[in-house]
Amino acid sequence: MTEPRYKRILLKLSGEVLMGEGGLAIDPAITARVASEIAEVKARGYELCIVVGGGNIFRGLAAAAKGFERATADYMGMLATVMNALAVQNALEQIGVDTRVQSAIPMASVCEPFIRRRAERHLEKGRVVIFAAGVGSPFFTTDSGAALRAAEMKCDALFKGTSVDGIYDADPKVVKDAKRYDTISYDTVLSANLKVMDASAVALCRDNNIPIVVFNIREHGNFASVLSGEGVSTIVQTLETPNASL
Ligand code: UDP
Repeated sequence: MTEPRYKRILLKLSGEVLMGEGGLAIDPAITARVASEIAEVKARGYELCIVVGGGNIFRGLAAAAKGFERATADYMGMLATVMNALAVQNALEQIGVDTRVQSAIPMASVCEPFIRRRAERHLEKGRVVIFAAGVGSPFFTTDSGAALRAAEMKCDALFKGTSVDGIYDADPKVVKDAKRYDTISYDTVLSANLKVMDASAVALCRDNNIPIVVFNIREHGNFASVLSGEGVSTIVQTLETPNASL
């Protein structure tokens, strides 16, 4: 049997992945489906960290555009991510996956504070660690939180679970023959301003050589397939350029 490419991975879940059809911010059935995809991967022996977003509930930037003070709005956004983290924890524990939530903003009666060494112990004990509240500071997003935790926890890859199956050269919902990349370099993502993750998150992954795998987590079985190198995704990584030394 060939060794799996990655052992420890960080899964970034955008808040919208938990949303239901009728605008329900956290749809229990959809959250349960996402949890079952995660459980399947966990059962295959991967070590799993999760960072959850909050965009299904509150986004600081959008609220600031409507007159909120930006930092306050961002703190509200971070609190939204804690709600999502608890929803994912609840869905995972209902199907027997042991988890811990750690928040970058301490809230002792709700979850653990972020403590890297303790998170490490949880992973060793086979628990899934869900990181909430991004980096814990306004003017950031959970993409940056995901890149930061992936680097701190020495994850082999950052998997970005979305509702599209990779990165395209144009919006596939608008442009019919938009082309999906199998692999693409960090620098191309940054220079072409492709909306994959924040530039700061992409740069942090590039500087720490952490591949970013963009895939559709809403498609049944896809997370496990992509991990085993079969499913459809786009991998952002350092690409060898011929004549790079010239
Ligand atoms: N946020 C923040 N600092 C962080 C992470 C998140 O201020 O480190 C706030 C920010 O307002 C953001 C909101 O929390 O809009 C929700 O996170 P995000 O937009 O990243 O969620 P996603 O798009 O992944 O659902």
